[in-house]
Amino acid sequence: MNRINPVVTPEEIARQQEFIREIATMPHRPKTYHIVTYGCQMNAHDSEKLAGMLDEMGMTPAPKREEADFVIFNTCCVRDNAERRALGNITWLKEVRKTRPELIIAVCGCMIQEPGMAERILKQYRFIDLAFGTSNLHRFPELLCMTLEKNEPVVEVDKEDVIPEGLPVSRLRPESAYLTVMYGCDNFCSYCIVPFVRGRERSREPGAILREAEQLLSSGVREIMLLGQNVNSYGKGLENPVSFAWLLGQLDRMSVPRIRFMTSHPKDLSDELIETMAGSAHILPQFHLPVQSGSNRILEKMNRRYTRERYIERVQSLRSAVPGIGLSTDIIVGFPGETEEDFGDTMDLVREIRYDSAFTFIYSPRVGTRAAYMPDQVPEDVSNRRIRELIALQEDLQRTTLGRFLGMEEEVLVEGISRRSGAEVSGKGKHGVSITLPGGPEDIGKIVPCRVKGLKNNTLTAERKEEK
Ligand code: SF4
Repeated sequence: MNRINPVVTPEEIARQQEFIREIATMPHRPKTYHIVTYGCQMNAHDSEKLAGMLDEMGMTPAPKREEADFVIFNTCCVRDNAERRALGNITWLKEVRKTRPELIIAVCGCMIQEPGMAERILKQYRFIDLAFGTSNLHRFPELLCMTLEKNEPVVEVDKEDVIPEGLPVSRLRPESAYLTVMYGCDNFCSYCIVPFVRGRERSREPGAILREAEQLLSSGVREIMLLGQNVNSYGKGLENPVSFAWLLGQLDRMSVPRIRFMTSHPKDLSDELIETMAGSAHILPQFHLPVQSGSNRILEKMNRRYTRERYIERVQSLRSAVPGIGLSTDIIVGFPGETEEDFGDTMDLVREIRYDSAFTFIYSPRVGTRAAYMPDQVPEDVSNRRIRELIALQEDLQRTTLGRFLGMEEEVLVEGISRRSGAEVSGKGKHGVSITLPGGPEDIGKIVPCRVKGLKNNTLTAERKEEK
C-alpha cells in the first residue's frame, strides 16, 4: 500500500464478507431492496456494487421503491436541484413507512459527504436509518448489520480517501460494463463540489484494472466504459506511474470489443492519448470533452486551466487523427460574472466546433466552492434565456452534424427495445450517437452492423446489415 493511493486491505474486505454472511442468516433481515440512483456514471457503478453486496445478503431487487423492504438513495450533490429532488423523495418515503413500519431507509453518495450534511441528517431527517459517504461504501455490510441490530440511526462519513478493491458487483447491463480506473479529483474547478465530496485523485493499480477487464471479457462483456472524474490524469501516485494512454493501449491489445471512457479534462488531453486512439482497433471513435465556456475570461474564473484557443486546437488534433470522431461536451451558462459578450463567445465556440451532442446546464452555486462566493451572480431570468438560446442553437447544428452519418455503415451495441416501436431496438453506434433499427429482444446485448438511412428528432435510424 502506498501513501497516495491507499487500497482497502483484503483483510478488511474479508471482514465485510463476514457481515454479508451474517446478514444473510438473520431471520428479520429485509428480503427485498430498491436502489434509487442520482447523478453520474460513477454513482451508477457504486449502485451496482451496493446491489452486488445486497444480492449476496440474499435480498432480491424490488421494481418499485414503495414495495421494497429496504430502500437506498445513492445521491448526487453536483447541482442544487439533484439534491432537492433526492431530499424530497426521501421525505416522501417517510409517509410510506407509516403503513409499513418495517421499511428501512438508507442514504449514501456524494450528498452525505457534504460538510455538515451528516449532522443535518441526524437532526432533521431522523427517520433515515442509515447514512454513509462515498468513502464508506466498502463498509456498507457492517453498517447495515449495525442498523439491523440497533434501534437508532447509524451515520458514518469517513474523510479518508480509499480505493475499494474486490467488492461484489451486480451489473445492470451484462453486455456493457463500467470499470473504474481512478477516483476523486485534484482540479478544484471553482464551481465544482466533487473534490470536496469524492476526495483527492487516486488511481487504481493497472494490474487490478487489467485483471478486472479480463474477468469482464470472459463473462461475455462486449463493451467496457472506463470511469473516472478525470481519466486523462490517470497514473498519479502509482508505484510505477503509467499514463492513461498506456492503459488504453493494454486494453486495446486484450481485444475488448469496444472501449469507451469518461470524463476527460481538456488540459490533460495529451498527444500520446490522441495517437493511441488513432492507432487502436477497439477504442471507439468518440470523445466527451467538457468545454464549460467559450470565454477565456470565464474559463479563468472557473479555474479550468486552458484557453478557448487551446481547446479548439485539441479538438482539431483529435479530428485530424481520428476522422469523423463523435464529439460531445458539457456547457455551463450563467457562471458568476458571465456577460452577454462571454455568452456570445460560448455560442460562437459551439458554432465553430459543431458537437454531436452537448449537455447544457445553468450554473448552480454549491456551498464551499469558490464560485459560490463570487460577486455578480447572474439573475435567474438571464440564465434561463441563455440556456434556451444555447439549446436551440445546439439542436439546430446537430441536425447538420448528425447528417454526416447518413449512408454510413455503423455498428450498434443494442441496449433495448425502442421506446417508439416494439419492432425496433436502439443503442449506441461507435461514434456515441443513438441509433434505432429493426429488431427484437433477441438483439439486446449484441453488436449489430447497420447502414444509417435517416434522422428523426436527433436520433439516427438505420437498416440492418449482415450480423457479425
Ligand atoms: S475536473 Fe473540475 S469539474 Fe471535473 S470533477 Fe474535477 S473539479 Fe469537478
